[in-house]
Amino acid sequence: MALLEVEDLAVRFYTEAGVVRAVDGLSYTLDRGERLGVVGESGAGKTVAALAVLGLLDDPARIEGDVRFDGESLRAADDDRLRAIRGGRIGMVFQDPEAALNPVYTVGEQVAEAVRAHTDRDGAAARDRAVALLDRVGIPDPATRADQYPHEFSGGMAQRALVAMALAGEPDLLIADEPTTGLDVTVQAQLLELLDDLATDDLAVQLVSHDLGVVAEFCDRVLVMYAGEAVERATVDDLFYEPKHPYTAGLLSAVPRIGADRDRLSSLSGTTPDLSAPPPGCRFHPRCPYAEDVCTKRDPPLVSTDDGDGEPHYAACFAYTGDLDGDLSFSVDVV
Ligand code: SF4
Repeated sequence: MALLEVEDLAVRFYTEAGVVRAVDGLSYTLDRGERLGVVGESGAGKTVAALAVLGLLDDPARIEGDVRFDGESLRAADDDRLRAIRGGRIGMVFQDPEAALNPVYTVGEQVAEAVRAHTDRDGAAARDRAVALLDRVGIPDPATRADQYPHEFSGGMAQRALVAMALAGEPDLLIADEPTTGLDVTVQAQLLELLDDLATDDLAVQLVSHDLGVVAEFCDRVLVMYAGEAVERATVDDLFYEPKHPYTAGLLSAVPRIGADRDRLSSLSGTTPDLSAPPPGCRFHPRCPYAEDVCTKRDPPLVSTDDGDGEPHYAACFAYTGDLDGDLSFSVDVV
C-alpha cells in the first residue's frame, strides 16, 4: 500500500466571477521514502492540490475525490484527526518563511510548541527537543538561536527553522511547497542539501516547484501539471530525457542550459488559461503545436505511453490513444 494515495481529486472555487476549476481529476501515489516532484507553471494547480491533500482549503473551495494517508481517508477524517495528522505524521514547509513564523515569539518557542502539539513532550523536554531539531537542520549554536526572534534569522535560517517545526512530529511525509523560492542560489543549494539529508527511507517528500532544476536534482518521480490537470507522470530520468507530452517538452526547452546555443533557446508561447473558462477538450490545445481537431473536442486521458523500458510513464495526449493523425516530433537536448 502506498503511503499517500490521491484519487480523482478535484477542487472548485465558487466565486462571484464563476466557478474556477483549479484541480481536475488528479490521481497519484507516493510510496514510503519516495521523493515526488510536482511541477508546472504558476496557475497549474500545484499548490491548491497540496493544500487540498492537507485539508487546508475552506470555503469557497469544494473538494471531490479521495486522499488516503497510510490507508486512512483524510477526506473522511474530522478536524481533530486532521490536525493530529497534519503537522504530526505529515510535515509541511511553505514558501516565504519569514511570513510563516510568528514575529512575537522566539524561534525556539515556536518549534517547542510544534513539539508539544505532536508529541508527549512538555516543558523542558519540549525545549530540549526544539534545540535538537534546530541542530538537526543545521542551525549553528542552536541553544542560543532558539532564544532569538524571527527577525534575527536570515531567510535561509528561517526556512531551516520551519523545516525543524515540520519535523517536530517525526513525520512520514513532508510536503514542501516552493521551499527554496525567494532564497538566494547558495542558500537554495544548502536547503536542498538539507532536504536530501533528511529524506531517508523513513521520510517521503512531495516537493512542489516551478523549478525543473530543483526537481531534477532532488526527486525520484515527477508529476507535471497543466491548468489543474496531470499531463505527465514518470521517473525523473524518463521525464527529463524523454518527455512524452508537448507541454513538458516545451517546459524543458524553456530551461536555459549551460552550453546550449542561445539562438536555440525557446520558451513556451502563450499563457496558462483562465480556469473559470478553461479551453474545451485538451486544456493545452491553444498552445500546442501538434493540436488537431480532436484536441478541441475531447479531454485526453492520462494513459501509459508504453515505451517498453519497464518504468511506468504516463501522458495525457491523444498521441498515445491512437486518436492523433500526426506524430509528436520533439526531442530535448539534455546538456
Ligand atoms: Fe497537443 Fe492534442 Fe496532445 Fe493536447 S492532446 S497535448 S493538444 S496533441
